[in-house]
Amino acid sequence: MELIFPKNIYCINCDKPISRQNTLSLCNKCYQNIKFLYDKNVSYDKEVIELLKSKYIDDIKIATIYDEVMKNLIHKIKYSQKTYLARYFASILYDLICKNNIDFDFISSVPIHKKRLMQRGYNQVDLIVKHLSKFTKKPQISVSKRIKETKDMYTLHLKERNEEMKDAFESEYDEKLSGKTLLIVDDILTTGATALNLCKAIRNKNAKTKIKIIFLSRASLK
Ligand SMILES: [Zn+2]
Repeated sequence: MELIFPKNIYCINCDKPISRQNTLSLCNKCYQNIKFLYDKNVSYDKEVIELLKSKYIDDIKIATIYDEVMKNLIHKIKYSQKTYLARYFASILYDLICKNNIDFDFISSVPIHKKRLMQRGYNQVDLIVKHLSKFTKKPQISVSKRIKETKDMYTLHLKERNEEMKDAFESEYDEKLSGKTLLIVDDILTTGATALNLCKAIRNKNAKTKIKIIFLSRASLK
């Protein structure tokens, strides 16, 4: 019975038992260590927001800072098959959407290359978007493909990243997107090269579509 009706659940970061009433699934200590950026995007990320606020992207918001706790959690979903975390990340992003009144018609993830999809078995952002689509009652769509196998970005500098991401995505015209707003979801924002090149590919084929993007976490450029 313990398995079906556990008295306690465990902190998704440090595995310490926590009360079942704890809807965030984090102990107080871990929760307090997450730096939420709900109202602080502009001041913290001026540089990268300016870079991304191009003619391709209409709005950018970031939920958290990529430090110890977030790093650990995102690594778990990316490299340790802890796919149950997708729901938790979706609830953080849902909070971000509600607090900022982000309005949109369709929701989509940043696609990964099919080779990487085969290796990992899933696109973690896609799993997050599935939950987010349910929370927001907005349909999830696929508007682009990753056609270039890109190197691991953390080995590259800002300029190299942008070069590496050039023409990495391919998009098609989608009639239902005309005059509508598309919300793109990504997990980690570093230089913005991935986001910028993806939104550019979509906008080039869908000129009458507004594109907004939200990130789960913001990594430092250093
Ligand atoms: Zn904890």
